[in-house]
Amino acid sequence: LSTKLESAFKSVSGQARLSDINVAETVREIRRALLDADVNYEVARSLTSAVKEKALGQGGLASVTPGQQFTKIVYDELVSALGQEQEEITFSQVPPTVILIAGLQGSGKTTFSAKLAKWLKDQGKNPMLAAADVYRPAAVDQLRTLASDIDVPVHSIAEKDALRVAKEAVSEAKKAARDVLIIDTAGRMHVDEHMMDEVSRIRQTVNATEVLFVVDAMTGQDAVNTARQFNKQIDFDGVVLTKLDGDTRGGAAISIRNVVDKPIKFVSTGEKMDTISPFYPDRMAQRILGMGDVVTLVEKAQEQYDEVQARKLQSKLASNSFNLEDFYGQLQQIKKMGSMKDLVGMIPGMSKQLGDAEIDDDTMKPVEAIINSMTIEERRNPQIIKGSRRKRIAQGSGTTVREVNDLLKQFGQMKKMMKTMTKMNKAGRAMEGLK
Ligand code: GDP
Ligand code: MG
Repeated sequence: LSTKLESAFKSVSGQARLSDINVAETVREIRRALLDADVNYEVARSLTSAVKEKALGQGGLASVTPGQQFTKIVYDELVSALGQEQEEITFSQVPPTVILIAGLQGSGKTTFSAKLAKWLKDQGKNPMLAAADVYRPAAVDQLRTLASDIDVPVHSIAEKDALRVAKEAVSEAKKAARDVLIIDTAGRMHVDEHMMDEVSRIRQTVNATEVLFVVDAMTGQDAVNTARQFNKQIDFDGVVLTKLDGDTRGGAAISIRNVVDKPIKFVSTGEKMDTISPFYPDRMAQRILGMGDVVTLVEKAQEQYDEVQARKLQSKLASNSFNLEDFYGQLQQIKKMGSMKDLVGMIPGMSKQLGDAEIDDDTMKPVEAIINSMTIEERRNPQIIKGSRRKRIAQGSGTTVREVNDLLKQFGQMKKMMKTMTKMNKAGRAMEGLK
């Protein structure tokens, strides 16, 4: 019990304030987590320094746990770095809307073209495809096969003339009253002049409404470099991230978004036709954090946490009048928010360290029982709890006198520690003021 108590006391005292020291430490952990998720170094650095600034800005507020407050700040920063809102494709006032699909070979252009056609069809549009990857007959066949599965017409020609296919497809679309034309183009292994030229010329010829750049998220840093080069040369309108079904954590998304400053419009997560989705910055932020439902937990925690109580608690800590009643209140707060393990796991970097360690919700039960068996008077003034009272409390709570002794001893030590910490903080702030 005593080590369990110790850690519980520690976590309570740790809630008092986000000190500069644990901000720096946590920020470092977060940066590591971002790099692990494939976020490029520069982006991770600027993101974490923004987080640090915000966290220190909130320093005065006692929080449920600093970890939660951090997770929330990081999450908000990520969402904002990813573009905040979902961005739709633009539709032309005069049909057809022409969407040009560009990117390296193998990035998933042909697959995406067909998927987008299906997606638009499901939205009530009347799309058509054009096979402007004229260099390999297999490319045209691939598009035809996919298109026939989703029952969308494809325009193609026998000659190797990408411009002509595109131009013809526009008049075809008009004739057939197709309101969206998706043009699949040829990619190369690497960015080269010819490919860029061709895309630019098709774009001009057909007066494309939208140029979407398709990039394989699994290629990590290469994806970022390719995006940069494409953007410089063809100034596309939006990004499509493919192959997000792999084990990549999506860090490429945030890097690309920040390097080219263009919205990510769609993500692709498989080879099947229905594995396409508009890009939602909030979902991607969650994926990058790699913590699934953490954000919900954090929000829940914040909702349930009474700020007024937090401030009261802080002033109590500062004046060293924190008593067992307050401690009990803290325990209840923590319990309201879900299991201890979930809570601890929310702190970035902690879930790994935690591994299979047992932190069960029963850990604090004896402590709760003991405090429960005390009178209000005793909770407020633990020093009055002497021999006979200890025995009564032990009996009432189904614990032993020894456990009651332990709790009181630990509580006393914690208060001493807090007193020292408060003094140090005051001294620290005074020093700060001298600078
Ligand atoms: P293109 O050369 O840019 O036209 O690329 P393709 O559309 O031919 O795709 C290249 C390969 O990647 C094909 O085997 C596709 O089935 C596969 N592919 C495309 N998109 C995805 C995706 O989102 N996830 C996965 N796992 N595979 C994909
Ligand atoms: Mg292709």
